[in-house]
Amino acid sequence: MEKKQFQAESQRLLEMMVNSIYSQKEIFLREIISNASDAIDKIYYQALTDDQMTFNQDDYYIRIEPDQENRTLTIKDTGIGMTREELETNLGTIAKSGSLDFKNQVEMEDGQEIIGQFGVGFYSSFMVADKVTVYTRALHHEEGYKWESNGQDGYTIEPIDREEVGTEIIIQLKENTEDENYDEFLEEQRLTSIIKKYSDFIRYPIKMDVTEQKPKEDDEETFEEVTEEQTLNNMVPIWRKNKQELTDEDYESFYQEKRFGFDQPLSHLHISVDGMVRFQSILYIPEQLPFNYYSQDFEKGLELYSNGVLIMEKCADLLPDHFSFVKGIVDSEDLSLNISREILQQDKQVRLISKNIEKKVKNHLLSLLKNDREKYEKFFDAFGRQLKYGVYAEFGANKEKLQDLLLFYSSSEKKLVSLSEYVERMPEDQEYIYYATGESHDRIENLPQTELVKDKGYEILYFTDEVDEFAIKMLMQYDDKEFKSVASGDLDLEDEETKQEAEKQKEEHKDLLTEMKEILGNKVKDVKLSTRLKSHPVCLSAEGEVSIEMEKVLKQMPD
Ligand code: ADP
Ligand code: MG
Repeated sequence: MEKKQFQAESQRLLEMMVNSIYSQKEIFLREIISNASDAIDKIYYQALTDDQMTFNQDDYYIRIEPDQENRTLTIKDTGIGMTREELETNLGTIAKSGSLDFKNQVEMEDGQEIIGQFGVGFYSSFMVADKVTVYTRALHHEEGYKWESNGQDGYTIEPIDREEVGTEIIIQLKENTEDENYDEFLEEQRLTSIIKKYSDFIRYPIKMDVTEQKPKEDDEETFEEVTEEQTLNNMVPIWRKNKQELTDEDYESFYQEKRFGFDQPLSHLHISVDGMVRFQSILYIPEQLPFNYYSQDFEKGLELYSNGVLIMEKCADLLPDHFSFVKGIVDSEDLSLNISREILQQDKQVRLISKNIEKKVKNHLLSLLKNDREKYEKFFDAFGRQLKYGVYAEFGANKEKLQDLLLFYSSSEKKLVSLSEYVERMPEDQEYIYYATGESHDRIENLPQTELVKDKGYEILYFTDEVDEFAIKMLMQYDDKEFKSVASGDLDLEDEETKQEAEKQKEEHKDLLTEMKEILGNKVKDVKLSTRLKSHPVCLSAEGEVSIEMEKVLKQMPD
């Protein structure tokens, strides 16, 4: 039998698991059960869509078997099982699983404490196990396999005979120590309460033999011990529950169980629609920017269920790009199970759902902005840039939808303001919405170009993000007010007298200006006398559509 080493990545995570603090250890059960449920989802889906397979609801369950004598805890599922290759890739390396993302996150945040808050996958079993043995047989495969590891020096895989399809995970509990008691994971009551706490929403029954004292049938006065199999979980998925029954903690633990992010959700929406299309949905606005958000690796999408059966893990068509940060699930009775990725795109139901979701998310964000400014600014700090890209993208097709969600730093308010707040404050005589671009608020604050506008008592929006000006150019106007850069050549804010004086000066200094232009050559287009400067001797100014800052960005772009 061959012994294989874990990948270096996995090794490091394993060490962290094993050394995690005690109070977090119970979450291993949530992780193992959630994998079992995923595996049953997969086979359930096949059974429903494959005519060759017989279908019997009772065949799909998870069983928990504590064994006091041998100090083992077994978790058995009737799911899809694993082939040899799948054992290798799924349990031999964490690269395949969400655990890798977890590790990256932990390295950024300095781990330990946070293990218990997050889904950490199969490996979490080593928090309580000296040895984990997996017996499994995959659907449509004859041969079964045994995988075994002590979590330290690699794992072994060997073929076995196995009658039924599905997976059995046997956890050999660690020896008790002075301050850590692992025997509790063999106690019926403790197991029941862990399962209630974390896995109540699992759609398949989680069964266990439970021994209780019961009055005898013929004699109510005497009690006897009765052992019977019980279903420990409620089985109603959270999204089917009534909002009123659910607490913030319920939504948070669902977010973690689903491993939507390594943060806490900033806010959630629970939608139930019963109209042209029927669906239920739970959506989350994450608190933190996922570390790969602005990279190629990031995939947007929502989990899609058809009447409680998972049909797609990341359905991208349900979310517009400008809301790609949203996480969550959608369940609709109106979708066919056999729907394929290609058909999905053209599916009328899916389009209706996605339109509805887009509207709901937008309204949710607007109400956050109105009612919980602090939260909204936190959100905007993380994802505001995506909204601005959204304004700019698709030739501005979504700009009207998004304009009220934008915030910019204001020269007069010294904080983030919305465009509508800006416009409300505009004095009678102010015609444009002014903005200034630069690297930082400080830099902009000191720009000579801002002097005249500020002098007039007008507010200026500070653009420090590269995408800001592109988005605003696409927007063109807000509430019929055009945007104008304080650096543009034609500010036209001077009074008649100043203008005439300027004309005169221009005549007088004609030779000087020509001379300067000759010296600077083709570095500049023109040298002009300016009336906008107060305390600075010179400034650069751009004419036409492309500002100096935009030009810098455009130059960096690949051709
Ligand atoms: P994740 O669930 O995020 O993928 P895990 O570490 O929990 O990460 O599990 C890794 C993979 O191992 C799963 O994606 C799945 O393919 C496989 N797996 C784990 N447990 C089971 C099981 N009971 N039945 C079938 N496959 C499983
Ligand atoms: Mg898992």
